Amino acid sequence: MKSRVILKVEFPHWIASLIKTENVIGIKAKEAGKFHFGKLRSSGELRLDYDVAVLPPKKYLQPPKEDLLSYNIASFKVTPSADFQPITIIGVHPYDMHGINQMDAVFSDENKDTNYLGRRKNVKIIGVDPVKASAWSFWHDMGTAYVDKGFDLWLTDIGDRYFIEIGTKSGENLLKPAKTESASKIDIERHKKARSGLKNICSPSRRIKTDIKKIPDIFRANHDHGLWEKRAKTCYSCGSCNLVCPTCYCFDVREDMELNLTGGRRVRVWDGCMLEEFARVGSGENFRKERSARFRHRFFRKMVYMKEKIGALACVGCGRCASACLPDIADPVTAINELSGLED
Ligand code: SF4
Ligand code: SF4
Repeated sequence: MKSRVILKVEFPHWIASLIKTENVIGIKAKEAGKFHFGKLRSSGELRLDYDVAVLPPKKYLQPPKEDLLSYNIASFKVTPSADFQPITIIGVHPYDMHGINQMDAVFSDENKDTNYLGRRKNVKIIGVDPVKASAWSFWHDMGTAYVDKGFDLWLTDIGDRYFIEIGTKSGENLLKPAKTESASKIDIERHKKARSGLKNICSPSRRIKTDIKKIPDIFRANHDHGLWEKRAKTCYSCGSCNLVCPTCYCFDVREDMELNLTGGRRVRVWDGCMLEEFARVGSGENFRKERSARFRHRFFRKMVYMKEKIGALACVGCGRCASACLPDIADPVTAINELSGLED
């Protein structure tokens, strides 16, 4: 992979020039020490030293609500909605990039999702290696501290400069207004050192105590474990753990009819397997009516089914579900360790 370096004193000028020419989304501070992805209006707003964003950047690839098509009944006219604005997202962490790569695989499977893929084609990603981790993160043990595809550019803080890996031609073009230099031997050494230090950023208290390759079998063997019933007793079925997860992509499709019944829109909205209505079917039956069944399903989806479908665990270790869950039952770390018989 080609690489360049940019001095930190030059970096804000580059970001400012991108803001002038691109629709730039960046990681920014919000209240109470939290961070979020939002429209970047100045280079000073960008906070590459963040720990985790409240919501992953998936919202720009699969919006919480989008029109799929509009229709007019009188004229039998159906118009697909395909307004995919180009955007550049700056500050994506590796575990979230893994999440996006998983969504790319799912939505380009045999039933290609033209809306997702159309949008994805117009999204450029400038990722960054984390320099901090939230108290709930455990990506160091989930194999997601590094990523080697899906991005256009990737930044690593190496002291007074950023090391930049160039992933695509579009990434190379984004660098055109930047004052960059060739990477020296010292830069390459610093980059290697920064990379190898990534595994030490998450808290040692957030360790997965088993080999992650064994996780699918551990879950399969514990389908009827008491953990599901025990934890689900205090579950609010609020769906927050679905909402914040970078690998949750389930949606519902609804008809939004005009009051005069002459036409309407077909809309797609985020859905979540922890919500009571998620598995209710047309005949009125609900095949995951019990909270414990929904609770177990979410874990099996992450740790078993997606591994079978795309070859990767659908938990990238961001820790957002654990942090968002008020009764503190959603944490994958404690669940994996308990099912492995390796909890403290
Ligand atoms: S299951 Fe939880 S920790 Fe794993 S990727 Fe989803 S939100 Fe992050
Ligand atoms: S596990 Fe927690 S976050 Fe998820 S639905 Fe239940 S209460 Fe809400």
